[in-house]
Amino acid sequence: MNFIYTFVALILVSVLQAQRCDVIHGGVEQVDRQISTFSQPRHGNISIPVIFHIVYRNSDQNISDAQILAQLDILNSIYDPASIPNNTSIPEEFRNAIDIPKIHFCLAQEDPDGNYSNGIIRKQTTINNIGCRKQGAIYYIMSENLGGSEIWNPSHYLNIFIGEREDCPLAEAIFPDLATNKTDGIVINPKYFGPNNKSRPFHKGYTLVHEIGHYLGLKHLTESRNPNDCNSDDQINDTPPQSIQYFGCPSHPQISCGTNSMFMNFMSLVDDECMRFFTKGQVAKMNNVIGVHRPYFLFYSCDKTDINPSNDFIILSEKNYWIIQDKYHRDWSAELTLFDSFGRLVWHGKNLGSEFKLISSGNADFSSAVYYLSIKQDKKNTVIKLPILNY
Ligand SMILES: [Zn+2]
Repeated sequence: MNFIYTFVALILVSVLQAQRCDVIHGGVEQVDRQISTFSQPRHGNISIPVIFHIVYRNSDQNISDAQILAQLDILNSIYDPASIPNNTSIPEEFRNAIDIPKIHFCLAQEDPDGNYSNGIIRKQTTINNIGCRKQGAIYYIMSENLGGSEIWNPSHYLNIFIGEREDCPLAEAIFPDLATNKTDGIVINPKYFGPNNKSRPFHKGYTLVHEIGHYLGLKHLTESRNPNDCNSDDQINDTPPQSIQYFGCPSHPQISCGTNSMFMNFMSLVDDECMRFFTKGQVAKMNNVIGVHRPYFLFYSCDKTDINPSNDFIILSEKNYWIIQDKYHRDWSAELTLFDSFGRLVWHGKNLGSEFKLISSGNADFSSAVYYLSIKQDKKNTVIKLPILNY
């Protein structure tokens, strides 16, 4: 009999410990009410540079570069697959709702000062459970002063912190409307980072897929704790309402709020083995959130973007204007977008077939120090960090 009680207690403990994620909720309603500057449907992929901060206490936690690349591959296989995945394992009634986010993740190629980076930082710490600790709103793991690794400008990078989390859920993400310069990104337990057969049932690297959903504004399908409460919704039209969370790997159909539940969605809390897809509504939400909160990523490209110095333009800076000139004295046409170091849109204009383009402080308030100019031509998008104006 004692054995049975112990067994039940162990199951309860393991269920509690196996809680996948803990989001910092602010609600994403504010995002809905804002109109993205870029409300047109975009074509092609969005690229997000990622900086991985590995903050380890022992060698097991100091995960390998190969493990990081494997996790990156998993993210891209879900968010930006080369071809539409086979969907025969998805219930037929949900197949029309499926969408691919077309977001590509790559290792950061330069640090915030413009120096070369391989996108991976390793730091040893003596603080146990550093991935669970906070001082006010500041996470230890995101702060060098608190024994962690200093967060990189979160407007320009997705910061992923990998560190010990033995007394808190596997991972957590910060919602875009609660992010600050010091608190943003994702914190994850190294055991559940990347593919890892020892970490069943969270062994396929989908914890990070789920957390990035939160980072881009998605909620769980429900937060209801009451089976009769069908009002706690994720505000996404094409995910059916549900009043209970699903765990493990249930079989379809499961009924809640009078309809079949979409428990196999990535924003559900089921096992990795049973997670399958995002919906069109969720992808639209992620796009809107990027436009409102993380517009720098609209201009960044993992493959095509030159962020200094090898591009076709020469930038001259004067007292209160920049002149953009083709290096080879050719006439050029492009759509120009200027944004500040927080990724906020400052000015938008065009150059139509001349060698020079002048952008002056008459166009906008240029009182901040650092600006980036996106030069969008037919087949190429160049992002240039502009020299500081000398007032
Ligand atoms: Zn979650």
